[in-house]
Amino acid sequence: MDRDDPFGRSPVMTSGTSLEALVIPVAAVVGLFVGSFLNVVVYRTPLGLSVSTPRSFCPTCDRQLAWWENMPLLSWLFLRGRCHTCHEPISVRYPLVEATTALAFALVAWAWHGTLPTVGYCALTATAYSIALIEYGGQRSPLSVGAVGTGLGALLLVPGFLVVHRGTALGWAFAGLAVGGITFGTMRARDPEGRNPLHHGRTALPLAGLWLGGLGWRPAVTGLAAWVLASFACLVAVRLARRRDEGTVAERRTAGRMWPVVTAPLVSGILVALAVSLGAAA
Ligand SMILES: [Zn+2]
Repeated sequence: MDRDDPFGRSPVMTSGTSLEALVIPVAAVVGLFVGSFLNVVVYRTPLGLSVSTPRSFCPTCDRQLAWWENMPLLSWLFLRGRCHTCHEPISVRYPLVEATTALAFALVAWAWHGTLPTVGYCALTATAYSIALIEYGGQRSPLSVGAVGTGLGALLLVPGFLVVHRGTALGWAFAGLAVGGITFGTMRARDPEGRNPLHHGRTALPLAGLWLGGLGWRPAVTGLAAWVLASFACLVAVRLARRRDEGTVAERRTAGRMWPVVTAPLVSGILVALAVSLGAAA
């Protein structure tokens, strides 16, 4: 194993800048389309609706969108953020989700130097982002989103890790998945309805275990430390805001006024851990 490279790639692979130059833009374009799909997932799954049918429609005039109205980012810019028929504004949230997913996929490809594990980590990124967006929107992310996305990511990581000769890392990734899965199962057994706000976003725990386990111990420890710090910062922020205006009505007001990122400490902690650990591994 190359001592300088946390992923254990051979010098030939790490010097593959031409591979990176090819994969990073491809990952960004794929990210735009995946981001477009995430908008559908985030809107429909908490309502128990199918993500495949019906096709995308305008929420104001109910008209189904033509393919050219449904192009990630471009359609929104072309239509200047308004529906072609009813001229009602289309939320800027849609192109923002598409652009940030593209950026996240490009960062994953950069961190993995364009090698095959990029694919699995992009699937996990999309899943973590969906869970976060649903939770930040004040809804509970259904178990199906985490289960399908994490399962897909795990399947894609198998060929990815084997191609870059990281069989050991694959073993640790699945050990992490088991730890995250057991932690999630324990939380779910204690609080089946997910009433405790500290449990919100717990469906991302198996994903976090899989992600951190596959990066090696140094990035994993760095990520875990960032997780604890980020969660602690969220809890302090919530506590301080509650102390300022006391009483349950005030609390509810505060909860509505506060940044959703702070009121879902588990989700925010996991997101920070994923990003920091990936940066540490790169
Ligand atoms: Zn419309």
